[in-house]
Amino acid sequence: MNSSSQPEIEGGVLIQGNQDTAVSYSVKEKQAKALYLPYMSGVSERNPQKTFYLETFGCQMNVHDSEKVVGRLVQEGYRQVETVEQADLILYNTCSIRDKAEQKVFHRLADYKKLQAQGKKFGVLGCVAQQEGEKVFERAPHVSMVCGSASYRNLPEMLVQIEAGKRATGLDDRQTDECFETEFTARTNPHRGYITIIEGCDKFCAYCVVPFTRGKERSRTSSSVLTEARQMADLGYTDIQLLGQNVNSYRDPEGKKTFAELLAAVGEVLGIKRVRFTTSHPRDFGRDIVEAIDTVPTLCDHVHLPVQSGSTRLLDAMQRLYTREQYLERIAWMKAAKRQISITTDVIVGFPGETEADFAETLSLLDEVEYDGVFSFKYSARPNTPALSLHDAIPEEEQSRRLEVLMSRQKDIQVARYRKYIGTTTEVMVEGFNEARRQWIGRTSQNKTLNFTASSEVAPKPGSYAQVRVTGSFPNSLLGEMVV
Ligand code: SF4
Repeated sequence: MNSSSQPEIEGGVLIQGNQDTAVSYSVKEKQAKALYLPYMSGVSERNPQKTFYLETFGCQMNVHDSEKVVGRLVQEGYRQVETVEQADLILYNTCSIRDKAEQKVFHRLADYKKLQAQGKKFGVLGCVAQQEGEKVFERAPHVSMVCGSASYRNLPEMLVQIEAGKRATGLDDRQTDECFETEFTARTNPHRGYITIIEGCDKFCAYCVVPFTRGKERSRTSSSVLTEARQMADLGYTDIQLLGQNVNSYRDPEGKKTFAELLAAVGEVLGIKRVRFTTSHPRDFGRDIVEAIDTVPTLCDHVHLPVQSGSTRLLDAMQRLYTREQYLERIAWMKAAKRQISITTDVIVGFPGETEADFAETLSLLDEVEYDGVFSFKYSARPNTPALSLHDAIPEEEQSRRLEVLMSRQKDIQVARYRKYIGTTTEVMVEGFNEARRQWIGRTSQNKTLNFTASSEVAPKPGSYAQVRVTGSFPNSLLGEMVV
């Protein structure tokens, strides 16, 4: 179980949660050491001495956007550095899904304001940039660049403007059809990589700011997704994660493939061993996705399906477009699969008007589904969203109480579920080595962390795959030893 108040470490980065994206990151970017620029050629000589620092907040979409931003800047001749102090240009790729995430960015900007006297420039990218627009300049006058995610293609021109001492703004009307520039992607991991297949969201859940910051849904052609997957496989990637705010709402503009067919096709690319996808919306979650997971072994047996509430009455108020029963029908499809599919979810507690009875229904849903992980959050009021006009706000203390109750219930469920893996043997992708614990860090197809020991003669390499026997369990991870 996870909550915004209890971040945990996954793959070496700090995980926090957001509305519909279970795994999200606040990464002190360290890609400078591990830049991987597959599609780049002819790096510009324009800014040979310039350096930049980039910190990313929010979901995997933002993490992947940052990979594109880094690629763009390196293409322009900038060099990435690891500290604000070393940088000429300080960038924050921001998240506005929760008020706290937004405030954090303005605190960061305030903390480093004094560095403006040294000639450093500041830029705000991503969702807060799109949401606040030029108001960012009012709140933080030392910022010289504000750029939403659909305008990153304009970064070269914007850099020229700010170098000339002007302010640069890149905001769009959220109706753009343009997206998916990938030729400058600076991937940070040589084994696991993201491919965005759909951007934006047309669902307009009552609490969510995403449709206002990321615009309307627009899918990429299946041909271009497959081309990128093949390029990544050729470059040695074995683990691909397909991304989208509502990844399973994918509609191929070429009309060639459904989402499930695209999943299967990526899974069949030579060299690809694992395919994940996030985040799915229950309304668009079809049985064909489960069938694809059953049929194509490279598709990971993990589905993250955000429920948000177990009460149909509250789901209706949240404008989630499904009922408890419809959600449980999708769970039943997964439980009936031949493979054992691990299921995780997101839950919001304290949405305006949530009664004790509504909350009890959420708890009973946890008992019924027995999730392997729940990312739980207190409701956070966001600008422009319909929920702002709802009455019956739940007091902060009551929200906290419900969050505690929910996390405690889920912890018990996870303790029991993780214990069942003891004695089984499973394949992990090796992600790294924990020096302090002298353990290798592995990830299972079910997206569980499995830390393990191995004898020095057979020590695995990061990015390789190993068979591990599970010898112990915790609420959020497994322990094991490598099987030779
Ligand atoms: S479906 Fe769209 S509006 Fe609803 S929570 Fe997800 S991103 Fe936000």
